[in-house]
Amino acid sequence: MTQRIVLASGNRGKLTELHHLLADSALDVVAQGELGVQDIEETGLSFVENALLKARHAARVTGLPALADDSGLCVAHLHGAPGLYSARYAGTHGDSAANNARLLRELDGVPAEQRRAFFICVLVLLRDAADPAPLIAEGRWHGHVLTAPRGDRGFGYDPLFLPHGHPLSAAELDPALKNRLSHRAQALAQLHAKLASQHA
Ligand code: IMP
Repeated sequence: MTQRIVLASGNRGKLTELHHLLADSALDVVAQGELGVQDIEETGLSFVENALLKARHAARVTGLPALADDSGLCVAHLHGAPGLYSARYAGTHGDSAANNARLLRELDGVPAEQRRAFFICVLVLLRDAADPAPLIAEGRWHGHVLTAPRGDRGFGYDPLFLPHGHPLSAAELDPALKNRLSHRAQALAQLHAKLASQHA
């Protein structure tokens, strides 16, 4: 039996990836926008806090179980920035070109060995708005920030991210391969495992 759940995200790139990643599951994922749920302010101080806020809001408004994702890029040399502010690093929410330009400026002249970074994704699944024991999963995708953008696939910081162990940037990778390697894929695999162990 498929279970309808609301996906607490309005980010088109993430929605597309999560739809693909969940295609084989028994979950029928509906984007919160289709159910009239507005975005809320992400006032948490960490990815997990923001994911919880978003999932609880979507569950409260729809009465459905809710899955929320909070993600971003953390650069060691920048003490974790852009971090929670990844989507609006240059000021305007979702302006990837400006965000990437700012990241390049902040790292101007910084040598390759100091450009380590990771994408992080936290997924939170709430059975209902009052669920006291949410399922929480986390994935991290490690790599380096390039000195110039490469590739036109993916979204966000993908053109500037060179994953460890791969010659291609995240925006040059085949989307199917990105969907196997990424922070979001890792978090989702962990969530699947947690769900399975609950039903065991
Ligand atoms: P959120 O919507 O608050 O989770 O913001 C996440 C932001 O982090 C996005 O807008 C992107 O800038 C960045 N981000 C998260 N995941 C990825 C990814 O897989 N590739 C590139 N950028 C990402």
